[in-house]
Amino acid sequence: MTLSVIVNPAAHGGLAGRQIPKLQARLAHAGVDAEIHVPQSREDLCRLAVQLGSNPDDTVGLVGGDGTNMAVVDALLQHFGSDPLPKLALIPAGRGNSLAKDLDFPDMDQAIAALSNGTIRDIDVARYVSNGVSGHFLNCMGMGFVTEVVQTASHFQRLGDLSYIIGVFHQTLRLRHHQFRLEIDDQVIEEQMCFIEIMNSRKTGGEMLMAPEARIDDGLLDVVWVSKVNRRDLMMTFPKIFKGTHGSNPAVHFLRGKKITITSPEHLGLLPDGDQLGATPVTIEVLPKRVRYLC
Ligand SMILES: [Mg+2]
Repeated sequence: MTLSVIVNPAAHGGLAGRQIPKLQARLAHAGVDAEIHVPQSREDLCRLAVQLGSNPDDTVGLVGGDGTNMAVVDALLQHFGSDPLPKLALIPAGRGNSLAKDLDFPDMDQAIAALSNGTIRDIDVARYVSNGVSGHFLNCMGMGFVTEVVQTASHFQRLGDLSYIIGVFHQTLRLRHHQFRLEIDDQVIEEQMCFIEIMNSRKTGGEMLMAPEARIDDGLLDVVWVSKVNRRDLMMTFPKIFKGTHGSNPAVHFLRGKKITITSPEHLGLLPDGDQLGATPVTIEVLPKRVRYLC
């Protein structure tokens, strides 16, 4: 049987595209007969995924990062609605690969090994509606400080990971808090906050363990928010996210829920799986075990 594999050549700043010969060699070595497809745009990527995955018995291989994965899952759900989706075989080749880490195959070799196991894992997806536009994410959606960091970093993209460090310093210097109304099922929190992250996976941005207790198949979203903090407190707490120990700061809060609604007096940018898309107000609901991955 031939496995259709879509490689997003733009993932990880073009590295995924340059790795195609290596990928082909490794797939052949693992005995996987693969047909490689290389889309030329995001639209082409989504169209290919829908075309190659038109039957729920199909498996579509996906080589890219969290952004590629989110774009494909969103396209499949927008196209197939509540109908069954094809199985996905994620081969991580992005910068962060947060979802692949939750699925326990953080690199290409382990993901290719998983192809021959044939084990399937059903995982949750989050669906959001913002100002009449719907979308989906698999890892997280941020707003507030975390989104503003990425907005700054996007001006320094050529500097790679350094752009995020610049973003953190810049946004800490001009630290702003926002008034949010956060509804998590029947609980309401209204206060000035530094940021909110709605987490499906445990990690964001590759290695930041934002929600250490999150599970991607428990039918719940983990909500992490930070109340008003000063610059020093933020700078002391932020590095702790890499170890998942930031909860020791009483300004950091965790709750779980199935439906989350967030409003704010001003429209604040959203960051679903690292993409700057939409603005508050936003409603997010979990779709339990909606996507199947080969693990
Ligand atoms: Mg969960």
